[in-house]
Amino acid sequence: MAQLKEKQFTITSDLGVFVEIRKDLFRCTQVYTVMASLISIPCCVFLARYSEQKYALVDASHNSNATLLVSAVRSQLAKTSPPGTLTHFLCTHAHRDHIGGLHAILEAYPELRVVAHEEELPFLCDQTPYSTQPADNWTFWFARPLLSTPITSLDRGMVDVVSNGDVILDGAFRVISTPGHTPVLVGDALVHFSLTGSATYSLSGPPILFTPNDAEARRSMVKIASDGEWDTLFAAHDGSGGAVRKDVDEFLRKIGA
Ligand SMILES: [Zn+2]
Repeated sequence: MAQLKEKQFTITSDLGVFVEIRKDLFRCTQVYTVMASLISIPCCVFLARYSEQKYALVDASHNSNATLLVSAVRSQLAKTSPPGTLTHFLCTHAHRDHIGGLHAILEAYPELRVVAHEEELPFLCDQTPYSTQPADNWTFWFARPLLSTPITSLDRGMVDVVSNGDVILDGAFRVISTPGHTPVLVGDALVHFSLTGSATYSLSGPPILFTPNDAEARRSMVKIASDGEWDTLFAAHDGSGGAVRKDVDEFLRKIGA
């Protein structure tokens, strides 16, 4: 397998397979091809082993990757004896490139609990389209038509609702709500992992036109940056080795946040 040399550390290529990028934190990078194959973007999903052999999956990539995702999860869980158990799906937000594979995951793991922020429920469960969000960013008008189709209609009974500051799953996860990109999230992050002192967060989000509230998004980024618990942020649309504090501070300076 190819080795990617990124910044201070080396990781193994995780294209289509889960690879441990921090102790008990595994990442699988998938490719989402849009606009008739003109653009390909990485979509990372994460598996976190939070207790003994229990795992939580963070995000589910695009529907076109659903079969690949299920097979990657299955093979990761089968690596230990006894095999791991997937207990929870943590929804950062319900955009199609983050939730598209969830239906296949739920078919494979029907007992799975879905964890989502309370403000994400209308989009996750009630078929409210993201195009209805109020925007302070005029470029969002270009994204509105692309966000007009709801992706999921989960039964609310399947969802464990969380709020900012909640500590969940045996203390392995702390929720930081970061509004801007969606009513709750910026750069695709809901959950800040505090596993063994490492952290993951989606800093390099999608193009700004998909983020209706730019001012709120900037405040959310500063909120994350000023949190002292993490050492590296892993972005949902960045298959590289993650961003350390210096990168994040530099990024925030660049955008004037
Ligand atoms: Zn998004």
